[in-house]
Parts: sequence; structure tokens; C-alpha cells
Amino acid sequence: MQFNKNDSITLDDEKLTIVEPLGEGGQGEVYLVEYQGNRYALKVYKDEVSSDFRYNLKNNIDKGSPSNSFLWPKLLIDFDNDRIGYLMDLRPKNFVSFVSYLTGKNAFASREVMLTWCINLCTAFKKLHEMGYSYQDLNDGSFFLDQTNGDLLICDNDNVTADKKNLGILGKMRYMAPEIVRNEMMPDVHSDRFSLGVILFMALCLGNPYEGERLKNYDIVDEKAEYELFGSNPVFVYHKTDKSNRPIRGYHTSVLKRWAYIPLYIKEAFHRTFVDGLTDRENGRTTEIEWLRLFMRYRDELIRCPHCGYEYIYGFGEKTLVSSCPSCNTPTKEVCILELGKHKIVLDLGKKITAAHLDKYSSEYNKTVATVIANKNNPSLWGIKLDLSDPVEIKDASGIQKTIAANGIIPIIRNLKIKFNENIIGEIK
Ligand SMILES: [Zn+2]
Repeated sequence: MQFNKNDSITLDDEKLTIVEPLGEGGQGEVYLVEYQGNRYALKVYKDEVSSDFRYNLKNNIDKGSPSNSFLWPKLLIDFDNDRIGYLMDLRPKNFVSFVSYLTGKNAFASREVMLTWCINLCTAFKKLHEMGYSYQDLNDGSFFLDQTNGDLLICDNDNVTADKKNLGILGKMRYMAPEIVRNEMMPDVHSDRFSLGVILFMALCLGNPYEGERLKNYDIVDEKAEYELFGSNPVFVYHKTDKSNRPIRGYHTSVLKRWAYIPLYIKEAFHRTFVDGLTDRENGRTTEIEWLRLFMRYRDELIRCPHCGYEYIYGFGEKTLVSSCPSCNTPTKEVCILELGKHKIVLDLGKKITAAHLDKYSSEYNKTVATVIANKNNPSLWGIKLDLSDPVEIKDASGIQKTIAANGIIPIIRNLKIKFNENIIGEIK
């Protein structure tokens, strides 16, 4: 390590103190430091970096973070020995690594929370791409999660560059788009989208979309094997017609088990990215906004089994509705459905209506504006508790109208119409 505990560096007449080393990676070292009365993480590069790299980092710092999901570089520091580094905020303690989720050490509190995290991930990449950046190095090591609420933190943002520019980092095998593995192109928005698909598949299925039966062809997965599996001839494990690379029974158990209960429209979106997207970079890969709408739809139709607590889909997008719990076979409970424009929201206890439900231009997919709650005195009586800025109008089947305060409760009754605003009128079915 280049610095020791209690070393200090003078920056513009202010003292920066090394509190302790936090870790070491391939590119650099990370320290806990104190500066201007606050604690930060300081990353110091081990080697001299190119002037392009420095310029890019400085530019990213000046432009600012795309959203608070990114642990974005805050202050560039030039050291006397021609090394550079940067300050960033410390990773809050409530976040655990995505890797620890993949290995089963940490789980999301519920499927709903897992989908909320996926929505946060897609929102973050949508904002990053809208700012003209591409991430270029999406892999499992960069992502962190709060198991309780689905909050996301993206670290290692120093390779983010303006789209179509590359500073030498190609990405990590198993996550890279095939054209990058084959060295035909440099990473960009489209290769980001491919890697995003891989991360989402891993979040949902706990496995890699290209690792199946074909692994048996290799004694060891070396560079040549990886080049074939992920570069020259990748085959999606659930390819509709090419069944040569299905997950291996007894080995890819999580993928086999989880894929079975994913909604059809999500399966289609994966198939598109991992089959069509191999050749059609621009139109074959599911985009962030498409994923956002699909995950919102998935979360809206989740229902919890009253017997075993398992969360599963109601089945709006399937050939038939799901008649019983896939885990314990208890018949699907009777619930009301709120139809809101294109959205169909299963009004199960705890279900949230978000700002994005009420405004198709809103990107606040996780901002709750109403929640299904049970009456304190009579728990079998459910209502929709509002958290809005304006009151809403309701009208029951007999035509009786009523105004519900912005923080009031709408009773859940069939055929009740709810006017959230001039454009959005919902109906409970
Ligand atoms: Zn059940």
C-alpha cells in the first residue's frame, strides 16, 4: 500500500488524513480518510494513468452523478509521485454485495423487494445512458443491495465514459457482450444493455444465461472455452429451438426452479436479448425502459399465498390465470384488481401504487403514492391508503360520489371508480 495509517496529505491548504486502508484491487488501493471534517473513501491508482483516463475522470466528477444509486467520484487528487486518486462517499452499512446474494449468503426480503432492486438497476442505467455515458464494465462485483427495501448502490464507476469512447477496459467474461469478447467492437450503450440483461437474469434465476449442458464439453473452463461459450458461439440456455445448452439437472437447480415461475413476458424479453440480441445489437436487446415496464407489470401482479407465504404471479400474461400456489398448491385467493390504464394491479396486502402508475412520463417507479392496508380493528377489511398531494374522487356502482383526502383511505369495493386526476381513472374489478 502506498499510504499508512495516520499519513496526511495537504490538498489546497487542507489536511486529508488516512484513517486506515480498506482494501486493494487490481487497479488501485482504497483507504478510509478524513477530509474537511467528513469521512470518505479514497481510491489511489497503483500505476500512472493515461492523460485520457485522468481527463475522463475529471470530466465525470464535474458533470456529477446520474443518480444517487451511483457511488460517484467526487474529487480528483493528484499526488506528488504522478499517481492520481479520487474521493467518494463511503458505502453505507445497510448494503451487501450482489455477489453475496448470488452465492446465497444474503437474500432479498421478498420477491417484490428483488423486483424493486431490478427496477432501481434499470432506472440507474437509463439515467446513465441518457447523460451520454456508457458503463462498459457491468459485472456482479459492482453492485450492492439493501435486502430490506431493494435500494441499489453501484460502485466502481471510474470506467464510465462518454458513449463510444473506451479507455482500455473491455469488461468481465460471463457479462460481456459477444462482440466485445470477439474483440470486434468497443463497449457502448448496446453492449451495456446486453450485460444488463445478464445481471437481471442472474438476479431472477441465480445463474448465467449461457451456462448449461455445453459446459460438459470442457474439462476445464479456460480462455478457449469462455471464448466459445460467451463469444464465438453463445447459446441461450432457454433458446426456443436450439436446446443444446439447457441448464444441467442437479447442477443448475436454481435456474431450473426459478425460470419455471417467471412470467412469459419476462421470458420473452430475455429470449430477445440473449438470442436476437446476439446479432442485432441495436434492436435485439431489451432496453431499460422496456425492462422497467415489464418489471413493473411483474411486481403489480404478485400475490402472496395465504397458506405458505410464497409470492407468485396472478397470471395476466400467461395462457391461463395461475389457479393455485406453485409452492403448496393452495388455491389462489380471491383478490380485487385495480385497472389503471394499461396497468392491472393485484390489490393484495402491502401492494404499492407508484408515481409511475399515475403518470406514464414519470420515472419514479419506486415512489409509493398509495398502499393496500388492512383495517386495524377489522383486519379482513382492506383499503388503499393514499399518500398524494391532491384528493381523489371515487364513485361506486350505484353512482354515489365521494371525495377522499390526499392522505385518506379508499375502500376496496368491486366496480368502484377512482379518479386520481383528469387523465387517470381507475376501476376496482
Ligand atoms: Zn402456498
